[in-house]
Amino acid sequence: MGNSVESKYWVGFDLGGTKMLATVFSEGFEILAQEKAKTKAQQGSDVVLDRIIKAITKACETAAVQPSDIKGIGVGCPGPLDLNKGVILTAPNLGWENVKLKATLEKAFGCPTVIANDVDAGLYGEYHFGAARKARCALGVFPGTGIGGACVYEGHLIRGKVNSCFEIGHIQVQPEGRLCGCGRRGCLETVASRLAIAAEAAKAAFRGEAPHLLEEAGTDLSKIKSNALARSIQAGDTAIENIVRTAARRLGVAVAGVVNLLAPDVVVLGGGLVEAMPDLFAGEVKEAIDAQAMETFSQAVKVVPAKLGDDAVVMGAAALADDMVEEAAESS
Ligand SMILES: [Zn+2]
Repeated sequence: MGNSVESKYWVGFDLGGTKMLATVFSEGFEILAQEKAKTKAQQGSDVVLDRIIKAITKACETAAVQPSDIKGIGVGCPGPLDLNKGVILTAPNLGWENVKLKATLEKAFGCPTVIANDVDAGLYGEYHFGAARKARCALGVFPGTGIGGACVYEGHLIRGKVNSCFEIGHIQVQPEGRLCGCGRRGCLETVASRLAIAAEAAKAAFRGEAPHLLEEAGTDLSKIKSNALARSIQAGDTAIENIVRTAARRLGVAVAGVVNLLAPDVVVLGGGLVEAMPDLFAGEVKEAIDAQAMETFSQAVKVVPAKLGDDAVVMGAAALADDMVEEAAESS
């Protein structure tokens, strides 16, 4: 399979639970055009697959690129996935099962397509173009609604035989802790995700300990977003600062465990919480590593905020498409 020899554009796609982003790249990975759309997952996978094709087609039109000139497509999507077959096995947040994403896009655009876990794609983007360039071992940790983890080791994403891996959010940190979305108790996500932080913050606001947060966001979890937390801390809500620092420190203790296993040279922190409070998160995580990891490892590791923001997943996915096309050329 493959479009003409002269085909020279890449497409990166970020399929999220609420929105999707299609991006057309030049051969040298400059962004030529982007198209955003709502995912509307509840409409079912067939309708969403059509919407994905439309978004890529529209981005190609904007970039004045013929779909036949696309060299490869990379898609970052929520898992669990069958990476080899390019199938979304189940996507609890989307309510889907066995969605043949790779086959559908290959048929629609006539070019090879690779799918990856969205967190993996994001870190791969940071490894090639952002905060983790040229790292021997880059660890990515992305606290959000959950907590995503990924690792690029000597240029390759660490993965399982079929599925992606590095679920740092589901390391147990409290044996008798709260129930996690995965069905087990006391996972890191239950103490350090945005949802866990927002729940504690809402309690503090309700008790009258966080007047600025109460005024801005009330006690509604869905309104206590990362930026509202950051503004409340800036305005002097010390109770909120303590809650966020405690969560960031717990995140750091889990990261320190991974540092002891892999001795990464860089830890990249990303996601909305870190974007809103980069210094707080990088500082707490580094302090936890310094306190908990082997000294030779903690001295050698940098903790940095991600650089690419919303473009990380599409950039990493496009880089994975490039790898796939190159590997196919080498083995043929
Ligand atoms: Zn869990």
